[in-house]
Amino acid sequence: MFYGRAARGRVFHRVGPVVRTSVLLLSAIGASGCGARYIRSPALPFQPLPVTSVTRHVLVVSVDGLRPDAIATYSAPTLQRLMREGSYTLSATTIDPSKTLPSHTSMLTGQPPERHGVLWNNVATADADSIDLPNIFSVARDHGYSTAAFFSKAKFQPLQRLGTLDYSQAPGGWFGRWSSNRTMADVASYLQGARPNVLFVHLADVDAAGHRAGWMTPEYGRAVLTADAAINQLLGLAARKYGAGNFSLIVTADHGGHGTDHGSKDPRDVTIPWIAWGQGVRRGALDQSAVSTMDTAATVLWLLGLTEQSDWVGEAVIPAYEPSPLQVADGVESASRSDNPN
Ligand SMILES: [Zn+2]
Repeated sequence: MFYGRAARGRVFHRVGPVVRTSVLLLSAIGASGCGARYIRSPALPFQPLPVTSVTRHVLVVSVDGLRPDAIATYSAPTLQRLMREGSYTLSATTIDPSKTLPSHTSMLTGQPPERHGVLWNNVATADADSIDLPNIFSVARDHGYSTAAFFSKAKFQPLQRLGTLDYSQAPGGWFGRWSSNRTMADVASYLQGARPNVLFVHLADVDAAGHRAGWMTPEYGRAVLTADAAINQLLGLAARKYGAGNFSLIVTADHGGHGTDHGSKDPRDVTIPWIAWGQGVRRGALDQSAVSTMDTAATVLWLLGLTEQSDWVGEAVIPAYEPSPLQVADGVESASRSDNPN
């Protein structure tokens, strides 16, 4: 299997013919991290999970460049279903600059750019282990949860910190990018042998179509439907792996866009969808009170019963969940956890 090539506790870069030009370019300017990067962290000693939590399995899907108004414009069936059955706002906001790596860093660390300092957005300026802040993966794993992240752009490599993720993968190259189909095939393969408590999936097609043809163009719309189908596939995989009703999902985006770009404070760039669905979720639209991308990090930890991250700026979006959330007992999952190869 694809991930079997990465030994335990090792970081593997794989350089194929497709990325050789980029490698030459990158080595010319001294950047690191040229090949696809797969990491597998050494197993941690067993520790009991928090006694109570809303759920033991949290999935976060980030659809790169998804504008909230695209969901209705292109009648994205899965996203519309998640909104119908879940809790959502289509007026959540991302940070300034509304760019992929700064925004995802805020999404995953619960911190604004002033505090995380990640203002770069390309591979050339990225150092492989440079985003050294607590994030949803490190905090969850420190508390006994297993974590996995599937990134579809090379620029995410700084978030692939060994010891914070049981498994992670990201493409290499100058503007390395994997399609939703490629990423989802890898997720499916991985889930055959693992049962991560935190699973993050980043899908890049929508942003790529926006840059190529323009946001809200027919090509962009087709990419939205591709991402929508990938999310539907993930729902099926998760239901088989965790059991229906035994996981909680958040679907959001790092930024929107207009014309053929994004990055500004324009509402079309900074407004993002935020949809919660699954275990513990209360059905209905959230009021328009501001949900920030930084709240995603706090919400993930809150769902897992981890609430002590008081220095994070983001706050859990508690109104999206039942007032008396289901409190999962510890014994059930600790039994299944021992079967988890991760
Ligand atoms: Zn972009």
